[in-house]
Parts: sequence; C-alpha cells; structure tokens
Amino acid sequence: MKIIIAPNAGFCYGVKNALKKAEEIKTDKIIYTLGELIHNQQEIDRLKEKNIIPVDSINNIKDDDFLVIRSHGVGKTFYENFGKRENLIDATCPSVKLAHRLAEKYMLLGYQVIVFGDKNHPEVLGILDWGGNDSLAVLKESDINQINLKKPILLLSQTTQSVDEFNIIKNLIEKKTENLVVKNTICKATRNRQSEIEELSKVVDVMIIIGGKQSSNSNKLFKIAKNFNENSFFIETYKDLNLDWFKGKNKIGISAGASTPSWIIEEVINKMMSEDKMEKEQTMEELLLEMDNDIQPGDIVEGIVIQVDKENIVVDIGLKAEGIIPIEEYTNEELPNVGDKITAVLLQKSNSVGFPVLSKRKLLDRKNRESQREALKTLPSKFENKEEFEGVVTSIAKSGLIVKIGDVEGFLPASQILLNGYAKSLDKYLGKKVRVRIIDLDLKKRLPKIVLSQKVILGEEREASSKDFWDIMEVGKVVQGEVKMLADFGAFVNLGYLDGLLHVSELSWNKRDNLKNMLAVGDKINVKIIGIDKEKNKISLSLKALEEDPWQTFINNHKVGHIIKGTVTSVVDYGAFVSISKFVEGLLHISEISHEKIAKVSDVLKVGDEIDVEILDIDEVNKKVSLSKKSLETPVKKDEPVEADKMVYNDDAETKSVTLGDILNQNNKNEE
Ligand code: SF4
Repeated sequence: MKIIIAPNAGFCYGVKNALKKAEEIKTDKIIYTLGELIHNQQEIDRLKEKNIIPVDSINNIKDDDFLVIRSHGVGKTFYENFGKRENLIDATCPSVKLAHRLAEKYMLLGYQVIVFGDKNHPEVLGILDWGGNDSLAVLKESDINQINLKKPILLLSQTTQSVDEFNIIKNLIEKKTENLVVKNTICKATRNRQSEIEELSKVVDVMIIIGGKQSSNSNKLFKIAKNFNENSFFIETYKDLNLDWFKGKNKIGISAGASTPSWIIEEVINKMMSEDKMEKEQTMEELLLEMDNDIQPGDIVEGIVIQVDKENIVVDIGLKAEGIIPIEEYTNEELPNVGDKITAVLLQKSNSVGFPVLSKRKLLDRKNRESQREALKTLPSKFENKEEFEGVVTSIAKSGLIVKIGDVEGFLPASQILLNGYAKSLDKYLGKKVRVRIIDLDLKKRLPKIVLSQKVILGEEREASSKDFWDIMEVGKVVQGEVKMLADFGAFVNLGYLDGLLHVSELSWNKRDNLKNMLAVGDKINVKIIGIDKEKNKISLSLKALEEDPWQTFINNHKVGHIIKGTVTSVVDYGAFVSISKFVEGLLHISEISHEKIAKVSDVLKVGDEIDVEILDIDEVNKKVSLSKKSLETPVKKDEPVEADKMVYNDDAETKSVTLGDILNQNNKNEE
C-alpha cells in the first residue's frame, strides 16, 4: 500500500505566521491570544506550555499584557478601541486583511457587503465589522433573501470556504441583481488544498483528512473529500485511526487542515506505517521544501493577478502564498486587471507578513540592462559605418542633451545640435526627435562614453544639396523662390540651398516702383539669375529682367527726326521731361520748347500735357533722348518751300502721313 500526501496539507502561511509571531515574543510574562491561535487542541496544549494562552475577551487581561491577534483578524471596532494598546501583536493573515480592506472600501462607496461564510466564525465577524452596519453573512440560498437589493452589492468570502459553494451563491445573487461586485477572497492556501483534495480523492482508495473538529477549513476539506470518495475519514490525531479502513486498499491519500501541525500529520503517517507495510511516497515537509527550493529571490516568476487594491497587486504565482507587487510600482502605467498575466522578479520569498514580494520594475530594469548590454555590443560597427540614428531627447544635461538611441543613451553636446553655432535654449528639445551619429565612443569606461552629433549629418546634407544646387543654377535661368526678407537695398529670395539677392535696381524698369509695394515676405516669385559667385555663395537675381528692356524696345523702333506724341511727366527750370514710350522719357529743353522767348517753362507746359515732339538726339550709351517741340513750330516763310516729306509718329511708333494741306494750314495760322 502506498500513502500519498497532498502537498499543501497542514499549516497554511497565515497560521504559520501567527505561530511564529507569538513564539518569537521575548517575555517572561504570559502571552495572550485573542481566541485560540489555531483550531487544534494538541497545538493549543503545546502553546500553553510556552505560556501562550487564549482569552475570549480583552477585558480579561491587563493593559500592558501581551496580546496577539490571531490569523482570523478582528473588526474595525477593535482597532478603534484598542489599536493603540501597548504590546499588541497583529498576526492577522494578509489574505484576511485583504478582505477587511475590500469590505471597508466598498462600504464607503455605498455598497452592502455580503460575506459568504459562517456568521458566527470570528473571521467572518471581523469582515462584517469592517463592512459596516448593514453587512451580512450568507451561507445558504435562503439567506440571500435578506440582501438589500436596492443597494449595490459586494460579495466576499470567508477565506476558507469552498470555491464551488461560493460560486453557487454568487450565481444565485447574480440572478437577483446586476449591481454586483464579486471578490473571491478564498485564500490561495485554501484553494490549493481544496483542489488537491478533489484530485487526490478521485485516485485513492481511502482519503484521510486530519484536522481539529472546530476547524472550519478542515470540515470543508472533509466535505470535499467525501464528495469524491466515499471512503473519506476525518480524524484529529492518530488515535482516531481505524486500521480496518485500509484493509484490502492500495492507495491512501492524506491531507490536513490549515491549523494541523506537521507533527500531528507525521504521527498519523507513522502509526499507519507501523501497523502495515505502507510506503511513504513523499512527506508534506519534503514537498513544501521542494516547493520553496524551486524558486529563489532574483528568479523571474509568472502569475495571474487575483486582486488589485490600493496598496498591492496580488498575484498567484503558484506558491503557497500569493505574491504582492506594491502599487507604487505602477505610478507611470495603468494598473493591471484581475485575470491579467504578469511577469515579475521575486525579491523576497516572504515579507514580514508571509507574502512573497515581487517587482515588475526590477524586471524592467533587468530587461533594460540586458538589452543595453546587447545594444552596446552593436555600437562599434555603427560608429565605424557612420550610421545615422533617430533618437529621442530624454533629458537636459549641463551643456547638451541626453538622447536615447535604441536601448542606450548618448550625449549630444549643444555645439553638435545645429548646423551653425551653439544651441542655446535646450529645453525646447525635450521629448523631441533628433537625427544623430556617434562621433566618439568609448565602451571601456564604467559609464560608456557615447558622444553624438546632429551637426555632422546636417553638414553633409548641406554639402550634397549645395552640389545639386550649383549644378542646376546658371545665369539667365528663371527660377522660383520665396521672399525671405526685405531690406532697404533689396529683397532676399530663398532658392532652396541659399538665398539670392534681388537688388532694388533689379526690381522693375519703372524707376518709380517701390520695393515694399511690390513684394512681401512669403511671396513666391519667379526671378531671373543675373549673376553667380559660387566661391562666395552668392546669387544675384532680377525681376525686371523677366520683361524686355523698354529702352531696347524704344531704340529698336525710333530714330532721330521721328515726330512722336508724348506726355509731360515733370516740369523743371531747364525744361520738361516727356514720356515718349513705356518707361522712356526724353528731355525737352527750355530752348526747344518754342521760338518765342519763354520766361518759365511752367508758363507753357504742365504735367499731363500731351504734345508732339521731334527726336533730336538718342544717346544710346547714357540712355538719353533729346526732344524738340519748337522744331515742329518753326514759322514757314511764304517763299520757303514746304518740307513735304516730314513724317509724324504716334506713341506706338506707327507711322502716320501728314498731308501738305495740313502743314500749309498750320503755316497760315502761324502767319495770322
Ligand atoms: S487559511 Fe488562508 S486565510 Fe486562513 S490563515 Fe490560512 S492562509 Fe490565511
């Protein structure tokens, strides 16, 4: 015959923790526990020998006596009245504390707190007290009728209840209200124990449950075992064994309640083995030790989130107790949800209250360090190949920026940010992307030296675009540009790689045109390149060169002796300027206005007068035209022959004939 011992048989971590706390108190005085520390008479007797005595009420002890709150915990009222008591040792199981916190939180949110459990059990009484006046314990279907369905409901469980029975009650309440929040507070130790017993009971011939008759969880375990195996028996000690139970049987399963000490289990096993040649497959202690040794601080563990509260994320990591991640680890990210899978590093196997402590941040740090190490290995080749990175500025240093490139960070000096000069306001770069290349690398130092530059990339790009630019630029070419700046002497027009100068003299053929009336910053204009100086990076532009030179048009169409119509544009002491073609004016000197003596030019001419004039001279070098009016007015002497071949030109230089009669009429008028 073989004995198979359930791995989680015996003390749970909550009970172990309470015993440890009580036994570690260093005093000669009696140590009182508020109620029995453990539901096992043999263990209570052992504790009594160590001066650890249960009391029913705090009223029965003195103010300075040591008092241990057992793993079942107490209500809020107790803390309000006695929380500041001297020598109070709180050994409430962390899983029970979790239920307290939930009950209080939801009570404050206006929920009615319902606890699935025995209303007379001290643990349930404590949770109900945290849940406020209308909190309620339910254990069977008929109890549900007492629930106030007008309020939202929080359903919790006594930590040692059966998971299946909890689910039955949950389903029943769900049918009555949608306004229900369910928090399964059945502790991990209990759940493990229950599922082990279920599995074990199915495969063994006889199932033995060891536990105190007063123990709620031991009774539950027996109930489960009995459910799956008719040959299940509930004993308190080896003395309750009946060896007839094992006759003709091959496999015996053993489990024990949370308050059953290992020595009682060992006594049972020894008794069975001494009476029969049974093989002990594995002791509980061996199995627990194995479990403990399986995982060590620093190991990465995986688990499922089973609870999120204001202090901790509680994670089932497959150990006896749930792991906890302090909520502070989630300041920069969203909290996980119940049911989420989580990976973390085990920092401590057991904190002061028995929980394994996990850290997600440490795992992230570790992963970062690992990926940093990997990333650093790739940097030398990237440095040699002058590779470009896109980095993000993560912080501002004294004289530059810290830039994250992949999994490492480098330093981008302020002098290496811009193409020209030194970047002054560094704050504006925070969080922004930059293009960088490593210009100095030393990985032998404890803190690797990685110096970056954006300037070298911009410089090379500028050089490349400079070549492309000069390749397509040539004098006489018309290009498009954008007006960047206006100055007294002209406008700067951006052509891409550089700005060209559009001098005021190149603005318009009309000398009266004004730069500011013609152009504004941002205007997109076509300009003609009239000069290039590559060495000095200078380009001269012209706007007026886009139109034909009016002077050229004039001299192409006019000759000395042509008579044309003009308009007086200005009157000066020595004569008048007359517009004789688009943007071309000629000077009508005072001496050429009339045969008569003129005192003042303005006596005979005014701006706007339209007059006929003869071209006396064209000075092509200085672009000057001399005109005469009087030459058209010379009185014709009677005996003088008429100059019949004289031609008259209009403003457009179209020829127009003048008849002999016209001229004679004119001469007659003059004689009159
Ligand atoms: S049975 Fe669970 S809740 Fe109760 S003391 Fe043990 S570990 Fe804590």
